[in-house]
Amino acid sequence: MLRSSIAAVSVSLAMLAGCQTVDTTKSGVVGVDRDQRMMVSSDEVNAGAAKAYAQMMAEAQKKGVLDKDAAQVQRIQAITKRLIAQTPTFRDDAAKWPWEVHVITTDEVNAWCMPHGKMAIYTGLIQKLNATDDEIAAVMGHEISHALREHSREQISRQMSTQLGVGVVGALLGIGDLGQSIAGQVANVTLNLPNSRQAETEADRIGIELAARAGFNPEAAVQLWEKMEKLGGSQPPKWLSTHPPHQDRINDLRQYSQKVMPLYQAAKGTAATGK
Ligand SMILES: [Zn+2]
Repeated sequence: MLRSSIAAVSVSLAMLAGCQTVDTTKSGVVGVDRDQRMMVSSDEVNAGAAKAYAQMMAEAQKKGVLDKDAAQVQRIQAITKRLIAQTPTFRDDAAKWPWEVHVITTDEVNAWCMPHGKMAIYTGLIQKLNATDDEIAAVMGHEISHALREHSREQISRQMSTQLGVGVVGALLGIGDLGQSIAGQVANVTLNLPNSRQAETEADRIGIELAARAGFNPEAAVQLWEKMEKLGGSQPPKWLSTHPPHQDRINDLRQYSQKVMPLYQAAKGTAATGK
């Protein structure tokens, strides 16, 4: 009995030694403020993301599904560029991240942003939702917010602390051989694992503030969710599997989109007068 408690104590001490409590972002108008426990460094996670992303984009290129439509790519780049310009509201270092976005041709309804700003959006999302610029800004603002909050790093840390091994599903972009490496875990967290409800709420709130500051109507986040849920049916959008809907979500988005509305009005006013 005594021996096993000593063993348990030393294990938790060892885990504490590798554990760091951080708050990855400034709180913004939407007031996101929560301590996060990390057991892996940003550098390790970012390196893993860079590797997984490079491999996935190379695979997409090989399959002939990478950035097929120049006008569409330009549209997505223009939207994400405006969102990225607002990220210093939440963290100073984000302006210098190696941001990148690509459009993947597939029927899958999905979009994501890996750690350190490595993004992708699938044509299925753009086409099946017939998404407006404001709605695309809502999706990408949400995804960018996961990266700003380092939710992947947090999720990987959680897996490390519970000692859960995670099998990596290769899926569309051939990431199976990344295995249990950090790159494999980042890919898996991005493509396959649902976010915690808390992480989702944070990404929703930061996302609409980014959108509003960039001059996109924050209320589009509500429309986007309604469109996603309508698609449902026998083949629900992949995006919903990593972003589990919950009852309060639309209400929360409605409430916070009103909170950031003055930022949107101000951004639009500035654009209209060319200042
Ligand atoms: Zn999310």
